[in-house]
Amino acid sequence: MRLPPCHFSIAAFAAAAGGTIVTDNAAVAANETVDFVVVGAGLAGLTLASKLSGQGHAVLLIEAGPDGSWNSAVSDAEDRPYPAVFCNWNYPLYDDAGKKLNSTIDAGACIGGSTSINGMVWYRPTRAEIDKLETLGNPGWNWDNLEPYMKAIERNILPTDVQVAQGAGVDPEVHGYHGQVNTSFPTPMRIPKAVQIYKDGLPLVFSALEIGNDLSNRTSVVSASTSWTIWYDPVTGRNRRCSAADAFLWAQDQQRESLTVLANHTVTKVTFDKDLKATGVLFAGSLAKGKGPVYTVKARKSVILAAGTLATSPILERSGIGKASVLSAARIKQLVDLPGVGANLNDQAGSSTSALMSKKHQNDTSMADGRNLFGPEISLVSINELWATSASSVAESLASPANLASRAEALVNAGAAVTIAGAEKVLNATIQLIVDSRRKFHLSVYTSTKSN
Ligand SMILES: Cc1cc2nc3c(=O)[nH]c(=O)nc-3n(C[C@H](O)[C@H](O)[C@H](O)COP(=O)(O)OP(=O)(O)OC[C@H]3O[C@@H](n4cnc5c(N)ncnc54)[C@H](O)[C@@H]3O)c2cc1C
Repeated sequence: MRLPPCHFSIAAFAAAAGGTIVTDNAAVAANETVDFVVVGAGLAGLTLASKLSGQGHAVLLIEAGPDGSWNSAVSDAEDRPYPAVFCNWNYPLYDDAGKKLNSTIDAGACIGGSTSINGMVWYRPTRAEIDKLETLGNPGWNWDNLEPYMKAIERNILPTDVQVAQGAGVDPEVHGYHGQVNTSFPTPMRIPKAVQIYKDGLPLVFSALEIGNDLSNRTSVVSASTSWTIWYDPVTGRNRRCSAADAFLWAQDQQRESLTVLANHTVTKVTFDKDLKATGVLFAGSLAKGKGPVYTVKARKSVILAAGTLATSPILERSGIGKASVLSAARIKQLVDLPGVGANLNDQAGSSTSALMSKKHQNDTSMADGRNLFGPEISLVSINELWATSASSVAESLASPANLASRAEALVNAGAAVTIAGAEKVLNATIQLIVDSRRKFHLSVYTSTKSN
């Protein structure tokens, strides 16, 4: 049996074949000059570092966290605690008035970034969602241009007949088979009986909901099975996570002498020449917590910031790029007035609802399997299905100019958006997707609930 690329270990491979260097030793980068410095070894950073080094460019990738691949909470898809204890920044959360809330925001804090702790769900956005990115001022960011990359990156491992019989569905034309990211269904599947009950129950709650075969097929279905970024390791008999690191760093065919990954080092700021061209970055050992030496590395071509949604803006701000009031409060000399830095965050809010199981199933021990993977059926319900007869008044209220204007104003007052016009544009795009397009709200069957 041919194993997927994810199973190779860098330690063994790099030593044997002179592959990518992954180290904690700042000496590999201090005072050096490379072509590209990439900041943050998460999904974006690893993908870019792999592509650029694959073209022969000398790339240094700096990651604030450690290599987490040794930890089964990262590598074993079934060991994933939620929320993650290891490899999690747990960013603090504040309300609009600046009061610290009793909750934190999860974000991956090791090589692989958030793909080392995420839920591993793999399905595509809709054409409408992707095309909206272009209308917000991002030329070329549309479905026709991006869909080929979605396929190119995926290595779908088709379900076996047993998995299909237990609820796994794949529409072959919407998947890729030769990419780096392994996607598949768990072996064995999660509690097929509970999934069937969920499927049977859906039409009773949402009358028009269609049940389809594969949620990556975004032309019609709104409830279907979905693949995970996992693969089954027959040696250990476990389902393994395929993080961005597994796909683009540890894999045998990704080894590059032109790529060095410096872990456990935090980039503090970007350096610039007199024409404001980025020349490199300053970085320091993460474990020294600000007390150790600060090092410099230079970039001949570019500095690429990919430290995640919440950590990228502070690097720009520390470098003097951002909103005047934020920089002056932190006594940072402003180099570029860019008030949008740190604004316009659209988070993926979540709330949960649960349904009571009928009495006849309550003592059925086969309805819990003590495993920590999602059930394979996910439904995306529309505003019509959620609100039924009151859907049109909800839609009207969401899209009403008065509501839009007051919400945009509130965002600007809270410092979350720069201009009312800009905030209205972003809100409008989201509302249009909710009102016009189906499949906006995500429901799933959490058959994962452990019996204890
Ligand atoms: C709990 C959770 C569940 C999720 N579930 C899913 C899911 O099921 N399916 C799905 O498709 N997506 C999911 N996501 C989202 C997905 O994982 C992220 O969208 C994606 O990883 C973001 O990629 P990124 O490169 O922008 O950031 P990240 O992958 O977070 O990478 C950023 C990296 O930068 C590093 N860094 C930060 N500051 C610095 C610094 N100053 N210097 C150097 N390095 C730094 C971080 O340590 C991190 O490794 C989930 C995310 C989370 C947190």
